Amino acid sequence: MRIAVYPGSFDPVTNGHIDIIKRAASMVDHLIIGVLHNSSKTPLFSAEERVNMLSEVCQELPNVEIRAFDGLLVDFVVECHATIVVRGLRAVTDFEYELQWAQSNRIVCPQMDTMFLVTNVQYSYLSSSVVREYAAYQGDISAFVPESVARRLREKFDNRTLVQ
Ligand code: ADP
Repeated sequence: MRIAVYPGSFDPVTNGHIDIIKRAASMVDHLIIGVLHNSSKTPLFSAEERVNMLSEVCQELPNVEIRAFDGLLVDFVVECHATIVVRGLRAVTDFEYELQWAQSNRIVCPQMDTMFLVTNVQYSYLSSSVVREYAAYQGDISAFVPESVARRLREKFDNRTLVQ
């Protein structure tokens, strides 16, 4: 059975991520989306909220599972009994960083391979940070994320405004 892990922050999941998820899921038997819970960073959405958003948008994909993790990716990959790590490449600037991790991960975990999927050009500009910035200023994010995610973003920023 071919098991892959697609790790990331997904803060929040975007249409670019979803495109990679669908393409990767069609190539492997089981795809585990690893939602990184990094205690030294303060994300906009908690790991639980990010897992819930991903579960909603992936509900039609039967071989996709969503799990939160912290610590080293190699440890999570071994725990999942996976041998493939999926990463998306948007631009050359992504490549240098990704290459370094792919190579160091193979030194530590030789059975693990990183599979790079090149973004569809229509999503090459898209990142979670762009989405967060637009949403913070009530910008139109309908081309960037599914409606269920856009709703959570609106709720998040409405609540923040109320608290201030
Ligand atoms: P972001 O950079 O959006 O905060 P993440 O840390 O959640 O992203 O990224 C998880 C993975 O998804 C990375 O491999 C990243 O390169 C990839 N990715 C992010 N946005 C896109 C996109 N628009 N198209 C293709 N891959 C993407």
